[in-house]
Amino acid sequence: MSFLTSPFFLVGRACESQRLPRNFSLCSSGLAVVAALGCGGEGSVTRDIAAAPGPGGSVTAAPAASSQWQPPAQVEAESPVARFGQLRVEGSALVDAAGNPVQLKGVSTMWLNWEQNYADSKAGLRWLRDNWGLRVVRAAMGVEPMGAYLTDPAPMINQVRNVVHNAIDLGVYVIIDWHDHTAELHQDQASAFFAQMAEEFGSYPNVFYEIYNEPKQISWPLVLKPYHEAVSAAIREHDPDNVIIMGTPVWSQNVNLPADDPVPGTNLMYTVHFYSCTHRAQQRAIAQSAHDKGTPIFVTEWGATSSDGGTNPAGQVCTDEAQAWHDFMDSAGISWTAWKLDDCADLSCLFRPSAPLDGGWTDEWLNGHGPFVRDHMQLYPQE
Ligand code: MG
Repeated sequence: MSFLTSPFFLVGRACESQRLPRNFSLCSSGLAVVAALGCGGEGSVTRDIAAAPGPGGSVTAAPAASSQWQPPAQVEAESPVARFGQLRVEGSALVDAAGNPVQLKGVSTMWLNWEQNYADSKAGLRWLRDNWGLRVVRAAMGVEPMGAYLTDPAPMINQVRNVVHNAIDLGVYVIIDWHDHTAELHQDQASAFFAQMAEEFGSYPNVFYEIYNEPKQISWPLVLKPYHEAVSAAIREHDPDNVIIMGTPVWSQNVNLPADDPVPGTNLMYTVHFYSCTHRAQQRAIAQSAHDKGTPIFVTEWGATSSDGGTNPAGQVCTDEAQAWHDFMDSAGISWTAWKLDDCADLSCLFRPSAPLDGGWTDEWLNGHGPFVRDHMQLYPQE
């Protein structure tokens, strides 16, 4: 097994997530556990272990699918979905049922194979909706690690269902995310999964499909675009209209490639990810240029941290650079979900260890970039 295909590398992000030269020396020096420490990011094994003591850090047995779940008789009044309804894409814009541009802001769960308690908390989601202005939650379904979708599909699907059911109950939008770095190797599984999700949830206006979280350095025309075409076609057999979000090469930074060679179809968007201590003006210029060309963008992950997700608690929170990204996103009306809804010492964990599960996250519970995320989720400057 080469280092590039080691589990540690597959789930990490620090050494992979930028267009700048990557710090392979950090990643390749020493033991695998050192690699996990150095390169662990949004999904590092080490980060997960570090999160274990809190109420959201432990991995409990996956709750049974809420098989008794019944959709609400009507969308909750004043909720985001009650307000905006079925969304679609027009040019570069996400628009509501009336055709008006709409910006959604919210959070991503932690990898669902590693964190289930905050992700499952309906009360917590309601609190974020009502107190922070959350309109969307992203269900980050791990695919490759042991215990994730490829080895344990049933509990992972149930986890996704739980998040989606909560979102539908609360009138919140929800992104079903295939959280993978080599999805081109799992195209058949992804197609089958999304066909199932589209069959179950395609009639709900709440749902987005994010079919490939962060591709690595793979060819857009030869590998990634064909993957998106195939998986999107599987969705469209069951759901003709809900928005599909597609990853872009190099950890979802090279949105310039689909800008010049888009996937055919309707209601398609592309994702850009940024971690502001690492991804700065150069990456932002790529996104700005794509937006200016009319490319619809949804930022499904960002952090005011380094690209390792702030796994080193002694690292930085780069709010000045993050503010420049938010100035761009707000001016362009770009929707986003912040990484990540979890309690741990990582600077990208919104909450301190042992924070409550069900809301009430006052200042003393916020961690790392948490205050910055909260402050920006509450702002909808174009409304
Ligand atoms: Mg639909």
